[in-house]
Amino acid sequence: METPADLLVHDAELLATVDADRREIAGGWVAVTGGVVSGIGGPADPQPGAARRIDARGCLVTPGLVNTHHHLYQNLTRAFAPALTGGLFDWLVTLYPLWARLDEEAAHVSAYVGLTELALSGCTTSTDHLYVHPRGAGDLISAEVAAARELGVRFHPTRGSMSLSVKDGGLPPDSVVQDDDEILADSQRLVDLHHDRSPTAMTRIALAPCSPFSVSTGLMTRTAELAETLDVRLHTHLAETQDEDAFCLETLGRRPVDLLEDVGWMTDRVWLAHVVWPSATEVERLGAARVGAAHCPSSNMILGSGLAPVAELRAAGAPVGLGVDGSSSADAASLWLEARTAMLQGKLRHGAAAMSARDALEMATRGGAACLGRTGEIGELSVGACGDLAVWALDGVRFAGALSDPVEAWLRCGPVAARHTVVAGRPVVEDGVPVHPGLDEQLAVHRRVSAAIQAAV
Ligand SMILES: [Zn+2]
Repeated sequence: METPADLLVHDAELLATVDADRREIAGGWVAVTGGVVSGIGGPADPQPGAARRIDARGCLVTPGLVNTHHHLYQNLTRAFAPALTGGLFDWLVTLYPLWARLDEEAAHVSAYVGLTELALSGCTTSTDHLYVHPRGAGDLISAEVAAARELGVRFHPTRGSMSLSVKDGGLPPDSVVQDDDEILADSQRLVDLHHDRSPTAMTRIALAPCSPFSVSTGLMTRTAELAETLDVRLHTHLAETQDEDAFCLETLGRRPVDLLEDVGWMTDRVWLAHVVWPSATEVERLGAARVGAAHCPSSNMILGSGLAPVAELRAAGAPVGLGVDGSSSADAASLWLEARTAMLQGKLRHGAAAMSARDALEMATRGGAACLGRTGEIGELSVGACGDLAVWALDGVRFAGALSDPVEAWLRCGPVAARHTVVAGRPVVEDGVPVHPGLDEQLAVHRRVSAAIQAAV
């Protein structure tokens, strides 16, 4: 007799698998057993028995969304009044002294709240880029990993770093930078402690010097060498603003993409945040090297950074995923909202026929998985992939009259939150509500910690 599945999501209005063939199945179902997808079918295929069933009538079912760029700790300084009108550099300089107050409690509670916020928007895997490690602050990344484990979401924190302070010609103050040897030793320690290489991994670590204006070129080179040795991925901010182009030309005598090449980062081990200002030939070079890009459309607008060449990067062969970016620049952390905004920006840049809802869904799922080196594991619904999915109700006032294309309706109508968000076959959000019982308590802690961080410096 056939063993029953752990979970069966059945009778979807449409199951958009975003698999290698981009199959879409009206009336489809998906079964999850032991944390991985064990079956997929349509109305004519017999459904397996299951310990738990989710009725998806009237719903779009997609792979869980993948967030490829974030700074979770920044929700402690969300919409911070003194930092609302500056561009990237002013914004950073205003906020660095506040972030110098981060500690383990702050890292834990910001991750708990931020990952919950993402799960409400259908996100099942998130990265994080924590690059502020004040002296004596403790093990901030392990505190975040603990929060992700409590919630049951898949988590790829990156060991961020800054080593170039104002006294060495960089942007951050001395209180939030570390020396290169200390950064590399801690990177190795965190990989040894948390990095899971299995295809169903819940936790993986990547290495992530912050940006060209906050680390030394020596640290970039040595981090790439360490990532090669440890076989982990590499992440940084690049080509975000025209100020950054000017900084790189003035202080390093090169444009950002040339710098990337010189420090050994033009490889498919790398994904970059933003990538707004590469030239046409630089887009080709990034694509040829299969360097990934985390497109952060809301952040790029709110900081006035620019419109990223997303269609061009994808056409050149670069994997492109989506990122909500830190919650003190793009203050909302909804991956659905980023997908919608990516669609709107694509149309704004190239015309109404460009960037469909399916393109945006693909970036939010498969594209993100490719950035994280997890093609076939996450970001698609296919037998053997992780059992991560989102169920989106297409009903009520928002969807009245949207009868002809459930994927386009999902992103054009709204705003939308996930009805159910499932990671490894286990609901993290159920009927629109986070499953973990600690949220009210954690929100109270968040309020206390963020008030202390925002107190006058
Ligand atoms: Zn960022």
